[in-house]
Amino acid sequence: MFDFTGKYVVVTGGNRGIGEAVVRRFLNEKAAGVAVLDVAEGLAYADPSEGGILYIGCDITNRPAVASAFEQIYAKFGRVDVLVNNAGITRDGMFHKMSDDNWDSVINVDLGGAYNCTRQVINRMRGQAGGRIIFISSISFYGNVGQANYASAKGALVSLTKTLARESARKNITVNCLLPAAIETGMLESLHYDKNDPNGPRMGKPENVASLICYLCSDEADFINGACIDINGGAR
Ligand code: NDP
Repeated sequence: MFDFTGKYVVVTGGNRGIGEAVVRRFLNEKAAGVAVLDVAEGLAYADPSEGGILYIGCDITNRPAVASAFEQIYAKFGRVDVLVNNAGITRDGMFHKMSDDNWDSVINVDLGGAYNCTRQVINRMRGQAGGRIIFISSISFYGNVGQANYASAKGALVSLTKTLARESARKNITVNCLLPAAIETGMLESLHYDKNDPNGPRMGKPENVASLICYLCSDEADFINGACIDINGGAR
């Protein structure tokens, strides 16, 4: 449906869930190369030595490790056209009982990791006068009981999107953000969602999110910049 011929893509947290769907979709849309940054030791669903995937085991909160990962990416690909800041975690609990560790780890991965990776591409994208940056926020941006840490990190990504879009627009870089509701992934299982609950929200699939990301990263979305888009099947 889209054509990413000649384009190089980086996806964080691409080993499973939404990230996996994003990697598969970009490869199907003929991306020249997709680098996957994930804490897992190896890629679970594909042989990274084949088919345009560059897998790099990397904790995105570790700044030197991120810098080294991007060195490898630039050495292999020469450029990055698309960065999908997808990796994220939850550590739920009521704010009045939340441990400092649970606050810090969510802020560090969901916001800090996205910062670390975006800093590795922004100057290059400015230099090449083009690029696409995606952040994944959440419906929890609007507030969610037990997710003060997660909602705060995801809210900051909305503000970062709007600011970076304004700063980068003249360089032909678009920066957009998605606010998904419940998507069927391992993260949701860990939050004990019951997808068969008839009174529960309709749940989305990782492919629903991947599809919107690909559109936003395509040439057709050239004038969509700074958008923060609900993708929630009507949940809100
Ligand atoms: P998953 O937990 O299924 O997958 C997340 C991936 O990110 C995993 O492969 C995980 O590795 C990796 N990861 C976690 N921490 C790090 C890190 N520090 N460095 C590198 N990689 C890391 O999550 P989803 O696919 O469900 O979520 C993807 C994004 O979408 C997240 O940002 C999430 O907040 C957001 N989102 C998800 C929703 C949902 O309902 N699923 C709803 C709204 C937003 P490992 O498994 O090995 O730990």
